[in-house]
Amino acid sequence: MIEIIRNANAARDRLRGLSRQGHSIGFVPTMGALHEGHLSLVGRAGAENEKVVVSIYVNPTQYDDPDDLANYPRPLEQDLEKAETAGAHIAFLPDYEEIYADAYRFRVTENQLSRELEGAHRSGHFDGVLTVVLKLFGIVRPDRAYFGEKDWQQLQLVRDMASAFFLDLEVVSCPTVRESDGLAMSSRNARLAPVERSIAPEFHRVLSSGRPTSEMESALKNAGFKVDYVERRGERVLGAVRLGKVRLIDNVEA
Ligand code: AMP
Repeated sequence: MIEIIRNANAARDRLRGLSRQGHSIGFVPTMGALHEGHLSLVGRAGAENEKVVVSIYVNPTQYDDPDDLANYPRPLEQDLEKAETAGAHIAFLPDYEEIYADAYRFRVTENQLSRELEGAHRSGHFDGVLTVVLKLFGIVRPDRAYFGEKDWQQLQLVRDMASAFFLDLEVVSCPTVRESDGLAMSSRNARLAPVERSIAPEFHRVLSSGRPTSEMESALKNAGFKVDYVERRGERVLGAVRLGKVRLIDNVEA
């Protein structure tokens, strides 16, 4: 059975014990509602480490939209089953008091990349992400931590933070897992109405089209999306769109 730990100090002690016994620790931070994308990270962590920890915590400090936070799915029982089947040994399930005993007095702020793209549309988002990830790293102290390329900007920022703070761990990036029609798997996809779900794969198709980003933006608008941004950054094209109340992000190699 997967071992469930809710208390931060208990998790820290347990993981310190495992490290001292010589076990390597792979860590997959998530917000739950686990799908094949998350499970690919768990599988990779299991292939590269002796012990795999999955955290499930819907982090309020990274939300600027209370509706999005309130509507985030929380199917805990299924999540635990899926995590265990994918090879996780420990599920860390903290609550707000465990993570934010300081009432968010201390936070990590990055002043460049975090202001762009997602950061320009979701105020304070990456402060919340980086702060919770640093706290989780402090509790779990993994040898390797696994992040999806689906959240490309998050991955870069976590990697840069780990380097800036000399964190003794490896940040491992994992490719985006997609539905057969190309839509990037996301916990939010379940909230798409049937007609929105039928339009949604067009997002990935357009981002992969190789056209100038201005043309991509027009194509997306014509298909029925509201476009937050479509931007090229080096070798990648990144986008965020909205279909009704659901916001989707994706990125592909340019
Ligand atoms: P979340 O639960 O949305 O915070 O995601 C937890 C981790 O899973 C993050 O590192 C995400 O980038 C990763 N992830 C989410 N969706 C996918 C996907 N479709 N493919 C690969 N990784 C993903």
